[in-house]
Amino acid sequence: MVCLVIAQVVASLLLPKSYRLTAITDWISLALMVSVSVVFARNAFSSTGRQRLVWILLGGGYAIEVCSQILWMHWELVVKQTPTMSLGDAEVYLAWTALILGFALRPHVEPTTQHQRLGTLDLLLLLLTGIYFYLFLVIPWQYLAPEPQSYGPAYKFLALAQDVILLSIVAHGWLHSSGRWRYFYGLLTAIVAIDTVMEYVVDTLADAGVYFTGSWSDSTTAACLAAMTFAGLIAHGLEPGSEQGDPASERYWRWASRVAAPVTLVLPLLAAWSFLDRSLPDPVWKFRVVLSLAAVVVFAFVGIVKQARLENELANANHELLDASLTDLLTGVRNRRFFANSIEADVQQVLRSFVSNPSLDIRNRDLVFYLIDIDHFKKVNDAFGHKVGDQVLVEVARRINSAARLSDGVIRWGGEEFLLLSRYTDRKEAHILANRILDSVGSRPYRAEAAKADLQITCSIGWAAYPWKETEPKLLPHEQVLLFADYALYQAKGSGRNCAVGLLPAGETVHGGGAASSIYINGVPASPVTTFGPRLEEIATPDPKTTPGKTSAASAS
Ligand code: GH3
Ligand code: MG
Ligand code: MG
Repeated sequence: MVCLVIAQVVASLLLPKSYRLTAITDWISLALMVSVSVVFARNAFSSTGRQRLVWILLGGGYAIEVCSQILWMHWELVVKQTPTMSLGDAEVYLAWTALILGFALRPHVEPTTQHQRLGTLDLLLLLLTGIYFYLFLVIPWQYLAPEPQSYGPAYKFLALAQDVILLSIVAHGWLHSSGRWRYFYGLLTAIVAIDTVMEYVVDTLADAGVYFTGSWSDSTTAACLAAMTFAGLIAHGLEPGSEQGDPASERYWRWASRVAAPVTLVLPLLAAWSFLDRSLPDPVWKFRVVLSLAAVVVFAFVGIVKQARLENELANANHELLDASLTDLLTGVRNRRFFANSIEADVQQVLRSFVSNPSLDIRNRDLVFYLIDIDHFKKVNDAFGHKVGDQVLVEVARRINSAARLSDGVIRWGGEEFLLLSRYTDRKEAHILANRILDSVGSRPYRAEAAKADLQITCSIGWAAYPWKETEPKLLPHEQVLLFADYALYQAKGSGRNCAVGLLPAGETVHGGGAASSIYINGVPASPVTTFGPRLEEIATPDPKTTPGKTSAASAS
């Protein structure tokens, strides 16, 4: 690259304006453009996914420039006469559009999936806008009513706009990246800035009639192309950095939609302007009106697709947020907000079933509240730390869940207290589920990896069934029944823990249960039903060979 640039500088300095100088300059430019495309293509081969797309766009952009250069060389070296309105201009415009698209994909940042889904449509809109402007402003003067005086300024205006856009994108990358990416973007910013200035200088010199192929300004262009090859080498194997969650980058990702939305508004204005401007030659007038109307239809279609995607996105985000707001972060079971939202529906369902069929023979229509509190949990925290405490909580929630049926709901009621809501069940068998929970929670030790210890954890349960009285389903509200379950839990703690106490209206009992003497809670007579959990000595002691460390009974320590 360095040799080619030196050759160009030497040729520009030593050779007079001649066919030889033109040929040398053209061939050096072609070689440099090919080298950029090859380096970018190599980067595309060695990358995957979005990175590959970026390199394909950048390499493709330079490949188009190569084609345009070959076309130019055909005119300059073979035909020996260059056209004022060249097909190569459109190619160069397309090449820069590909470069802009490539850098607009921000290869240095890992986008969120949401941005990937929506950003593609915004970029498509911007691409269509770029093509639309070219077709609207430049093409009519090249083919429909050929007129170099209108073609030249229109093309230069669009080329300048592209330069400014590309410069802002790479300069933004330079300011907002780090490490090797920053170096890469810094180099690109310098290249694009110099290229833009040189384009202006060459245009001015050409207008003054002093530019010729091979004049000193072409050495700068050659140096810029060589530097681009170098930039491609620097960027080989670069991976996007993770900027997820960074509010600044999140905001930046919305730039495409911020730009795309107002740009679409320009369309109807241009359509109206073309329609009203009758001073244009007839073919140009017709072409612009038809083109603008067609563009309005295409843009509206992309807009509709985007709207549909946004609605989908919003619905998904709302669903995720709602789910998160109803779920306990630590244990993954539902939280009290979920209970508050859903309990009324459960209660109404139970009442409907009792009111529509008062017969007492129908089974499995009670709603049973089980309040479950871990025994001596403070000691776990004190002895092994909060982290181990949290792990135990997660495991207890999992074990309660595994004891429950699919139709039951597990709710984290408080710190280390859970509520199991058992639906479509029968009060006469409620103690069986209570026993199953005691068993599931207490019968196997808990492995605390952090503490290298096995813990014996038990729980106490208080339960009560809704409706309180089957004969008078509306006698007490569910809040009262929950209070009874809480009272029963208190009783279970008082009875030595690792047991379940249920409360039923005085005189009622469970299958296999004996009559218990009534107690009074807030003046309501009730019969307690007590069941006991696994005896601690029954809890399997782990094999000391596989589980080094101590076995600690939290309730006994
Ligand atoms: P009892 O058998 O009487 O229930 O004894 P206890 O030690 O379990 O007493 P209590 O129910 O009052 O203990 C609650 C403890 O639970 C206090 C608090 O430090 C702990 N705790 C509450 N929430 C969390 C949590 O999210 N993580 C951890 N690690 N500990 C918690
Ligand atoms: Mg407790
Ligand atoms: Mg507690």
